[in-house]
Amino acid sequence: MGNDIKVTRSSMAPFEEYTEEIRSLWETHWLTNSGAKHKELTAELREYLGVDNIELYVNGHMALELSFAVLGLEKGEVITSPFTFVSTTHSIVRSGLTPVFCDIDPDDYTIDVDRIEELITESTVAIMPIHVYGNVCRIEKIQEIADKHGLKVIYDAAHTFGETYKGRGVGSFGDISCFSFHATKVYNTVEGGAICYRDPELELKTRRIKDFGITGEETVSYIGANAKMNEFSAAMGLCNLRHVDEEIEKRKKVSDRYRERLTGIPGLKLNTVQKDVKPNYAYFPIVFEKETFGAGRDEVFESLKKNGIGARKYFYPLISEMDCYKSRYNSEGTPVALNISRSVLTVPMYADLSISDVDRICDIIRNCCKIT
Ligand SMILES: *Cc1c(COP(=O)(O)O)cnc(C)c1O
Repeated sequence: MGNDIKVTRSSMAPFEEYTEEIRSLWETHWLTNSGAKHKELTAELREYLGVDNIELYVNGHMALELSFAVLGLEKGEVITSPFTFVSTTHSIVRSGLTPVFCDIDPDDYTIDVDRIEELITESTVAIMPIHVYGNVCRIEKIQEIADKHGLKVIYDAAHTFGETYKGRGVGSFGDISCFSFHATKVYNTVEGGAICYRDPELELKTRRIKDFGITGEETVSYIGANAKMNEFSAAMGLCNLRHVDEEIEKRKKVSDRYRERLTGIPGLKLNTVQKDVKPNYAYFPIVFEKETFGAGRDEVFESLKKNGIGARKYFYPLISEMDCYKSRYNSEGTPVALNISRSVLTVPMYADLSISDVDRICDIIRNCCKIT
């Protein structure tokens, strides 16, 4: 049966490169609280991501959650989509705000911009769209709606590390864009994240709110949390950043092979290729239309599993159907999202996935098709 293949595999710079990078920490004994590695990585990521203002965080979730505090949003409604990782909605609810679910676009799975305005009420304070699978949202339209109604825009940009839209770093859009540098993402600092923000006036707040809101020896100006990135993570980030372009290039080869083998099969919908976007090949989602393909998502999932291949029902269930939210929301208002969540599968995707493994995965998927 061959070796098991997981859905992802964390990128790691060479061991010696990392040990060399952390050597100085034994000299300074400075382990966290904006040390040298943290400063260096901040500068390098600002450059790499093409953003003006960036602050590193302990993870992507805390970046999202604290974004509301950074923008001074304490109550009200936030329009978002339920087709995302649960962190997006948790960040809204845990900040004391109310999520309002908007349906998604059936082509790229990002928020359906034609449905946003009908959800705006007196209480709406922000829009939190997600660049799902690295597909960039309709940025211009979202900004236009936000400007018209005086709303803030916070992007969940966890899937878009290194991407550009019309030549600009994707993190430079909205009031805030949040990245995740989790182990499973295209680029990792083991655990990590960042807030990229537009208004330079927010610098102090964005920097201090992750350190309990402490602003001086005897002053605490904000109701903060502890969400700082430590020096070991920052060191990992410095090492991994040197290799990330190469990693993305390898992901492209994997993605190209999947496309070569799976394009044109009736009932299989591959992720759209967006013009104006430089992609990072973070995920390879496939939507299975059962009537046409002859097998549904769950059958393909089981078939892959039997062969030792880990695919992921990502994102399933829909957030509005999860135990912690289903009593508050229903999925009737988001039929497209519901349908996609029941028919999508992300297949293994990482830089070191071999072409022969991709071929094996594609053969199994093709064999699921019962209509000839
Ligand atoms: C990974 C992810 C997060 C959370 O990031 P962490 O770094 O794991 O806390 C949030 N939103 C989306 C869409 C993600 O994929």
